[in-house]
Amino acid sequence: MMSESTTPKVSADSVSTESETEKTKVAAVCTSCGEIYAAEQASDGEVRPIGRKDGCRCGVGTFEAIGTEAAN
Ligand SMILES: [Zn+2]
Repeated sequence: MMSESTTPKVSADSVSTESETEKTKVAAVCTSCGEIYAAEQASDGEVRPIGRKDGCRCGVGTFEAIGTEAAN
């Protein structure tokens, strides 16, 4: 009998706490090419374009939130 290869199970450290994360709908601009997307900004400041899992079409995944509504 050969030794079995132990497949590491998926660790829980990659699981985000989305249920507790507050998101704000914002516009986001790519910091590289200037393309603008509809995005969500998490309470920690992370900006994720909606429907763009792979980031910007230019290949850069860094975005900056713009045009946030004043929560006043
Ligand atoms: Zn871009």
